[in-house]
Amino acid sequence: MSRFEYYRPKCLNEAFELMAENTGYSLLAGGTDLMVKLKENMLKPTAIIDINGFEELKGITVEAGRIVLGALTTHTQLERSEIINRHAPALAKAADIVGSPQIRNKGTVGGNMVNASPAADTVPALIALGAEVTLSSNEGIKTIPLEELFLGPGLTVLKHGELITIISFEVSTYRGCSFQKLGKRKALAISVINVGASIEIDPKTRIIKKARIALGSVASTPVRVSAGEKILVGKCYSPELIKEASEAVAEAIRPIEDVRSTAVYRKRVAKVLVRRALEEAWSQITCY
Ligand SMILES: Cc1cc2nc3c(=O)[nH]c(=O)nc-3n(C[C@H](O)[C@H](O)[C@H](O)COP(=O)(O)OP(=O)(O)OC[C@H]3O[C@@H](n4cnc5c(N)ncnc54)[C@H](O)[C@@H]3O)c2cc1C
Repeated sequence: MSRFEYYRPKCLNEAFELMAENTGYSLLAGGTDLMVKLKENMLKPTAIIDINGFEELKGITVEAGRIVLGALTTHTQLERSEIINRHAPALAKAADIVGSPQIRNKGTVGGNMVNASPAADTVPALIALGAEVTLSSNEGIKTIPLEELFLGPGLTVLKHGELITIISFEVSTYRGCSFQKLGKRKALAISVINVGASIEIDPKTRIIKKARIALGSVASTPVRVSAGEKILVGKCYSPELIKEASEAVAEAIRPIEDVRSTAVYRKRVAKVLVRRALEEAWSQITCY
């Protein structure tokens, strides 16, 4: 591990100043990804800016019809949150499957995003929920759809001096959502493929008003697959419709080939997992 200065700012403004002063900084949240990269010399920052003490970036609230997650909210907090389990069970399930209890206790939702692994588990669930991320810097704030955050493995649109403060998505009564993951083991496994899906209906007609389907580990970034979404919107649920949408997603993706799977296998499994995700999302709506 190379040498670096360690800073623990007391507030966001102090963090922004430190980021401005240090060109080669890395932010430290839970450290579950960063510490591995430091130990393996994959990163050689000149300064570590530890933001993990910022209480204002922790926790889950409902504000003006949106669920708001502080970027430093841990996977354990997500998994156990009553708000998340009630309104976004797909996210609770995704958080519950990240790593091990130790990783979930330290790892944060913001860190999961900025690490920008194509296999990050909370990301497809959040994209399916229509999440937006707020990026803050000493120049102000801006909010972007989560799917626009990623540029490639380990790469995001975050500029020098910017950090993620919150992630938010709408509460919706007539929405069902699901997360599905295939790993090589039942626990502590990087996803071979993961899927987030949501369906929202018009309660009067039961016609599908909105649909979102996102997949991880099939490209260099998590991806939203509109080919499947378009098939669903404006129609009534039927097993045939779900099958058609799942096949369209599998057809549209161009999966990566890596140590965990071949591209052909990923395409086959995508069809199965998307179908399961849409069926589970639908089963939540019919409960109302
Ligand atoms: C053994 C092990 C198992 C794992 N299993 C899984 C798994 O099953 N699924 C999965 O998805 N992930 C897994 N991970 C990856 C990791 O735990 C998650 O990505 C975690 O959520 C990262 O959060 P963190 O707070 O620890 O991030 P950190 O390590 O602190 O930071 C990660 C990166 O994000 C940046 N960053 C952090 N917070 C912010 C912010 N608010 N704004 C801007 N930049 C920020 C940091 O500078 C750093 O570059 C695993 C990791 C390990 C070591």
